[in-house]
Amino acid sequence: MAENIETASYDALVIGAGIAGGEAALNLANNGFKVLLVEKDLSIGGKMILLSKVFPTLDCSACITTPKVSEISRHPGIKIFTGTEVKKIQKKSENNFEAIVVKAPRYVIEEDCTGCQLCEQACPVVVRDQYQYNLVGRKAAFIPFSIASPRVAAIDIENCTLCGACEKVCPTKCIDFTMEAVEHHVNIGTVIVATGFRLFDPLKIPRYGYGLYKNVLTSMEMERQLAPTRPFNTVLRPGDGKVPDKLAYVLCTGSRDATVGNPICSQICCMYSIKQAQLLMGALPMADVTIYYLNIRSFGKGFEEFYEQAKGMGVNFVKGKIGKITEKENGNLILRYEDINESVVKESEHDMVILSVGVMPNPDAGGFFGEGELKLDPFSFVHQTDLLGSPPETSIRGVFVAGTASGPMDIPDSILSAGAASSEAISYLNRKQ
Ligand SMILES: Cc1cc2nc3c(=O)[nH]c(=O)nc-3n(C[C@H](O)[C@H](O)[C@H](O)COP(=O)(O)OP(=O)(O)OC[C@H]3O[C@@H](n4cnc5c(N)ncnc54)[C@H](O)[C@@H]3O)c2cc1C
Ligand code: SF4
Ligand code: SF4
Repeated sequence: MAENIETASYDALVIGAGIAGGEAALNLANNGFKVLLVEKDLSIGGKMILLSKVFPTLDCSACITTPKVSEISRHPGIKIFTGTEVKKIQKKSENNFEAIVVKAPRYVIEEDCTGCQLCEQACPVVVRDQYQYNLVGRKAAFIPFSIASPRVAAIDIENCTLCGACEKVCPTKCIDFTMEAVEHHVNIGTVIVATGFRLFDPLKIPRYGYGLYKNVLTSMEMERQLAPTRPFNTVLRPGDGKVPDKLAYVLCTGSRDATVGNPICSQICCMYSIKQAQLLMGALPMADVTIYYLNIRSFGKGFEEFYEQAKGMGVNFVKGKIGKITEKENGNLILRYEDINESVVKESEHDMVILSVGVMPNPDAGGFFGEGELKLDPFSFVHQTDLLGSPPETSIRGVFVAGTASGPMDIPDSILSAGAASSEAISYLNRKQ
């Protein structure tokens, strides 16, 4: 519909507002360029805004992310569209791209919402909260999470019964069920792809029992239990609400494993598991934490010391390959594993198991341009055409990649990569002038 099409021009389009996309947008805007930052989710901040603390410094992740997110959202040079996806991008000529992005209806007028949460309190519908990785529920009228940006409500129309309770209590009358998707046709000079990564789906390894046994969690679910914006006030077993006292980590779940389609190292799982183990020892001082690993890859600055610190705190490290996990009647879990140092098969009992799931490519990146135009590498991450000379360059001149869209990396490397991508984008834009 014509009235739902809007047109505009920007210097740069940044796709994905995780730490990499946010950093790239900020660098561009601070250099005087007009940026459109497009985010699929309802909040900017990516995965980092949902983490607990960060390795190897144990700084609070939310405390680092929120000022950055606030700077991005207030910057006059950055226009942010949340709940928005890229439909198509076409390169018209050098320094001239045309993009169609579609902003889905939020059913709340963002500018008028005060974030009072009265709609949330009034809404009778409870569904699983994806921001707490399904550990608790949320309402159909909801603010994604307490430090979300923008901190405004949204209506989950798929689960909404249209009872109207939220509309009645909203003090600013900003809930609007007639909202429709708006297609934005934008002209831009350069594009930065910062669409991040997906987590490995542990259902692909049925012998680990994820989805079958309630006390088998993913590392992201544990991350939420340890975060300042956590769902409970302590760490709990989802099966029965018991505070666990014997926890196990299974490293390399879905990484370095060609049988599940991911032969590469995820680079972050060893360190985030060691981080979580340290945080658990602080949160549950009487608990035993065991990390089952194939190799510990503590390759970064301060990482080996961080590993040694965990050992010093009493975290058990077992070089072992997990064969199968089974559940006892009381919800405890039996890990059958090969003790690699002793070459024998052993069993151990834990009351909670955390699968350190790997980093997978986000397939969205390959679909923005014409078929095959934005080349992917053999593992389906965005291909870097000049990895040693100019890592942000892609197969399309004027399109750059930032952060984990090009492969697994931690936060410092994502920020470095975003700095490089924005610098290359600025040089590209300057060449036309
Ligand atoms: C359990 C866990 C713990 C971790 N702990 C640490 C730690 O302690 N220290 C550390 O350094 N690193 C840690 N990491 C790694 C860290 O999360 C990543 O390095 C970082 O999030 C990468 O940022 P990114 O912006 O590249 O990607 P992401 O955080 O994935 O952000 C990508 C953004 O793009 C958006 N997006 C995706 N597709 C589209 C689309 N089609 N259109 C528009 N937007 C889109 C997403 O919604 C998201 O907001 C951890 C990771 C996990 C899983
Ligand atoms: S109209 Fe929908 S979102 Fe609003 S209160 Fe009713 S169920 Fe919840
Ligand atoms: S939609 Fe209305 S009731 Fe809900 S948070 Fe916003 S202002 Fe408050």
